[in-house]
Formats: sequence, structure tokens, C-alpha cells
Amino acid sequence: MRGIMQIFRAENRVEFIRSENITSIHAFSTRVGGVSELPHTSSLNLAFGRGDERDTVLENLSLFAAAVGFDAERLVSVHQIHSADVRLVDGSHAGQGYIINEAFECDGYVTNTSGVAVGVKTADCVPILMEGYDRSGAVCCVGAAHAGWRGTVSGIAVKCLEQMRSLGTERVRVAIGPAICGKCFEVRSDFYDAVSEILGEELTAKYLLPDGKMTGVWHTDLRRMNKDFLVSAGVAECDIDISEDCTCCLPERYFSHRFSGGKRGTQLSVIVMP
Ligand SMILES: [Zn+2]
Repeated sequence: MRGIMQIFRAENRVEFIRSENITSIHAFSTRVGGVSELPHTSSLNLAFGRGDERDTVLENLSLFAAAVGFDAERLVSVHQIHSADVRLVDGSHAGQGYIINEAFECDGYVTNTSGVAVGVKTADCVPILMEGYDRSGAVCCVGAAHAGWRGTVSGIAVKCLEQMRSLGTERVRVAIGPAICGKCFEVRSDFYDAVSEILGEELTAKYLLPDGKMTGVWHTDLRRMNKDFLVSAGVAECDIDISEDCTCCLPERYFSHRFSGGKRGTQLSVIVMP
């Protein structure tokens, strides 16, 4: 399923992306509508450690939360480590990462606690939001995953799905947010070797496509890889919505690690358990 991601502009001028595939409150942030004034974090930088004062980031978070309609005090979004670790979180974790210090690190979350929001931070990596439906057709849990290349090939999306199934999920709806496209994501042989060590030669050759002009250069679309892995794990293709926006092709709209050479702000993608 494609083309049902829409950009919204809230009254407070924050711009964000939402998928019609998901009914729970959720959003993928852009870089538009915040208060950061540094050229590289302007203006909706949602991560600490990128050059903004702590209070600036927290003000951006409260603007984003107001625009989308979630409670920033109930958000869990801790330090990410490019792992495939998915944590089940509840009200006892609320606020960890932004409002209070985190007690753990991970790259994926699942929650079935009403009002708890989970969020992942990206700037080229793939943000994945998931909504689990039980047998009666009600939302029984939600999940979020930060899938960089290492998380992607280590299967973080499927690990998230498995936790959601253990909580009674029969059907999952997925939104894969803005991330770097295959054309922009150019990799070298060290990357090829690292991926083939995890995925094996056959899958690596399927997903890492030779550049065509330059030898020793490949391109890969991490969004497609995550989608394929979820489909292999039993998710219906029509239940997966993929943003067509590339963070690196659209530097006015998104922070991109690759486009900026690493000097950049960070997007936040959030989903709230109803
Ligand atoms: Zn691109």
C-alpha cells in the first residue's frame, strides 16, 4: 500500500506526516515548525546532543506533542544503540528519555498501556510505527522501531511484531516513515561485508544493488528491506504503508545525516496506545 501518507500543518505551524493506514494517534515529524535557530538544527530538532540547548529541544517536543495530540510526559523514547532490542514498556517508563533520564537503551518499543506514547529518533534511518489488532478487531498494542541498516538486517521490525503477537495481535498495520532512499544510500564494500555476515550472500545480493557506474559501490533501500521482512513474517502487504519521502532528497523538509555530513537535527516518530 502506498501513497496514503499525508503532510499536516498544525495551528502552531508544526508540520508532520501521518498514515491513513493507522487509526491510533501517531506522527512522523519533519524539521518544520520548531524553535531551534542553529542552521543545522533549524527548526524542529527533537534530539539532545545535536547542538541545541536542552530547553530548546523540550520546547520543540512540546510543540510537536501539541500538534499531534499526545502527552510528552507519557512519552518513552530512550537512547538508541542500533540494536534489535525491543522493550515492552508501560506507565512506569513514562517520560524516560526526554523528561527524565532513561534507565535502559533500546531501538524498539511495544506498549499496551493506554495513553503511553513510544517514539524513535531518526535522520535517514527508517522509523516504523505499528498498530496491533486483536481477534475482536480492537487495538491491543502499538509499537515503534528505529531501523538503521544494522537494526534492519538484524530484524528489529519482525522482533517488534513478535512482541506484539505475544500480546494478542492477530493483525498488524504498519507505517514506514520518511527515510533515505535507495538512490541516496550509497555504500561500499565494508558495508557489503558487514551485511552479508548477518544476512548471508543470497539476501545481500538481493538487496544491495551494484551502482552501475562505480565498481565497489552499492545502493540499498532500507524501507523495502523492512517491508519485505514483515511480509515474510506474515504481515499482509496491503497493511504496510510506506512514505515515499526521502530524507536526503528533501533537505528542506527533513534532517538527513547523509545530506548534512552528520551535522544535523533529528526527527521523532511517535505512536500512542489508545
Ligand atoms: Zn533520496
